[in-house]
Amino acid sequence: MNNITQNIPHNIVRVRETMAEAAARAGRSPDSITLIAVSKTHPAQAVLDALAAGVQHFGENRVEEMERKSPQVAESLAARQGEIVWHMVGHLQSRKVKEAAPLFGVVHSVDTVRLAARLSKAREETGMIEPLDILLEVNVSGEASKAGFAAANWQHDGAVQANLAADVAEIVALPGVRVRGLMTMAPIVDAMENARPVFASLRGLRDWLLETLSPTLPALALPELSMGMTDDYPVAIEEGATMVRVGRAIFGERNAGSG
Ligand SMILES: *Cc1c(COP(=O)(O)O)cnc(C)c1O
Repeated sequence: MNNITQNIPHNIVRVRETMAEAAARAGRSPDSITLIAVSKTHPAQAVLDALAAGVQHFGENRVEEMERKSPQVAESLAARQGEIVWHMVGHLQSRKVKEAAPLFGVVHSVDTVRLAARLSKAREETGMIEPLDILLEVNVSGEASKAGFAAANWQHDGAVQANLAADVAEIVALPGVRVRGLMTMAPIVDAMENARPVFASLRGLRDWLLETLSPTLPALALPELSMGMTDDYPVAIEEGATMVRVGRAIFGERNAGSG
């Protein structure tokens, strides 16, 4: 494998420096941004190496892989188990909801009311007292290949606005999940600067939803914006990201075809 995989602690220091620089440019505190190390396709040992380097949040995109990996990590962690939070960042199939509901602390990829309802029910059935934290995945770029609630041109499209407001209100009422904010994936672009409008749009949509819904839902809070990956997280932070999902810059390239 390539060198970068042997340098997880070094890579984490570099990423944290880059995060702090981006935060400073935006006049934000670096503490307001959570680094999620996306460990998909990488072994439990890579997670343990990153944990030892101070990372507490990890992202996975397949329930099957998570079912294998998390017990291996938990076994090695023993007493420190409480320090790890697993984030589901990939598309969640409805037939995997039951398994996912107890495994993850946060699901970033809730892209339909139906999926939210299923997660809510499954979480309640686990007997866990805490609702599952979720983020609503939003497709602000309008790319047909992207998952997420449709939000292209939301600023100028009353029908899109009405649908989004209604869907969010419906999900907020579910007892087994707690909506914490929004998530998006930027299009693949040559230069990270070109992703900026997508990040700014997600932040604008969050602000608009709060303004629109808080008269009827005073308890609504949407503090989290999950946006930015290896190729664009500095710009995402400048635009208000509170969670960045970074894989390759920490763990190296993934094996082809494995996610
Ligand atoms: C794989 C993945 C990431 C991490 O991507 P990198 O480019 O390796 O940083 C982030 N978010 C999601 C949803 C992913 O599937």
